[in-house]
Amino acid sequence: MVGEERLVHDLHGACERGEIVAHYQPQFDLATGRIVAAEALARWNHPELGLIAPGVFIPIAEDQALIHTLGRHMIEQVLAAVTSWNERGIALEVSVNVSANQLTTLAFFDLLDRDLGRVGLPANAITIEITESYPILDTPSIAIRLDELRQRGLGISIDDYGIGYSSLQQLERIPATELKIDRSLVQDGSVQSLALMTAIVELAHWRGLRVVAEGIETDEQLALVRELGCERAQGFLLAMPMPLAELESLLTA
Ligand code: C2E
Ligand code: MG
Ligand code: MG
Repeated sequence: MVGEERLVHDLHGACERGEIVAHYQPQFDLATGRIVAAEALARWNHPELGLIAPGVFIPIAEDQALIHTLGRHMIEQVLAAVTSWNERGIALEVSVNVSANQLTTLAFFDLLDRDLGRVGLPANAITIEITESYPILDTPSIAIRLDELRQRGLGISIDDYGIGYSSLQQLERIPATELKIDRSLVQDGSVQSLALMTAIVELAHWRGLRVVAEGIETDEQLALVRELGCERAQGFLLAMPMPLAELESLLTA
């Protein structure tokens, strides 16, 4: 078996075999320079092919209806991490990516609700990031469920804002707590992108949302997003995504 066919085959059971692991990319508070949160990013530790990026296997997982198992597996890892940090007095928030497909099953919300109740964590330590799924949020039942999660204290982040389906209307509809400016805007450097970012930050703040700038690769980009008033920044300049153990040694160093 070669190529995609092999990946499709091997992805079945990958979670159960412990091959899908969460790596964590630190997010920095721009006022203090400290790490205040981390985004969990799925990695497939393939026994023969090595580490495979989510851009490759998430679309396959969506296609093969494996995204529910995978998403659940990621949430379990994240909750375990936050629980253990909590016990050790490490105050760190965590974000986890959730795809449109996951949101369409009400089982997702029930499980998340149950998990949160079971571990008894402060829900505000956890944020779910929603991407390219904005049209789905027009479904009233989903908007209501998201709102319930938010009422429980969970953070809701609008990921990759500024591209694709992003619109001002979406900002009105989604019961969000955070907005992440897409890295293509941050990195673009054009006058138009600067104007757009300025408007996005202003609007987000007016709506009471925290703003995270992603894809910071240069000192200039860092200075810019700080000047724009973003609260948090994330990017290769600041820290790469890393395994849990590495993140923990970085935090306790
Ligand atoms: P995302 O949620 O927007 O995550 C940020 C992506 O940007 C990550 O790629 C991260 O490694 C990358 N990144 C961070 N800083 C920089 C930078 O300075 N420069 C550049 N060029 N890239 C940077 P990654 O890990 O390959 O993930 C890609 C996408 O896959 C994510 O984009 C997210 O949409 C999706 N994804 C990852 N994990 C999961 C998951 O557990 N569930 C779902 N549904 N999607 C996931
Ligand atoms: Mg994300
Ligand atoms: Mg993003």
